[in-house]
Amino acid sequence: MLRSNGPGTLVAAVGPGAAGKNVFAAGARSVSVVCLDSLRERNPMSDDQEPTPAELRALMTEADALQRRILDISERLGASASEDVRRTRFRLEDAAGAVRTVRQDLDETAGDLARVRAVRDGRVCAVPWGVCPDHGNTLTGTGGRAWCTAPACTRRWGYDRLASPCGEPLTHRVADADGGSFLACTGHAMDASKRLVDGTVTPLGTEDGGRD
Ligand SMILES: [Zn+2]
Ligand SMILES: [Zn+2]
Repeated sequence: MLRSNGPGTLVAAVGPGAAGKNVFAAGARSVSVVCLDSLRERNPMSDDQEPTPAELRALMTEADALQRRILDISERLGASASEDVRRTRFRLEDAAGAVRTVRQDLDETAGDLARVRAVRDGRVCAVPWGVCPDHGNTLTGTGGRAWCTAPACTRRWGYDRLASPCGEPLTHRVADADGGSFLACTGHAMDASKRLVDGTVTPLGTEDGGRD
């Protein structure tokens, strides 16, 4: 029990989640209550903050700059009057190519991360496998690439879309006969409407209450 709480007193409440720290703080007549979660949000260098796609894109910019500097040095060495100096640049073309590969890996990682985060945050379709947005369950793939097999469909993806969370925009509510429901994209809604026996597939915005 806290007996004296004079001006300027800092009280730290320590304990596991749901231990009653907030109830304690409310009863302690403090001026301001600071919780660790809000401090972590304010500190962008905090170790346990999840990396963002923006961080990866910032690294891509650094890779671009590094590649340009390597090519610039290669060009300047190539302009030397001395043949011995010119010959020293033979590895730099490969070095610049290696940085290009790094940049591409960063780019693809940023794309994967953005998709996974959007699915996790409920902003996009979270069905754990991908579909063609136009044709539904028509994908095939190999070697980390995927494409639609519907005739005349030209859609292709540079990642294993069959094994990745969908990530397409939410357009429909799919409800089963028992009243359970989830939000899905057009492709998954099309797929569900072919399989559902007593359920319904309703475009968002036309149902009572719209999105939730
Ligand atoms: Zn398609
Ligand atoms: Zn989907």
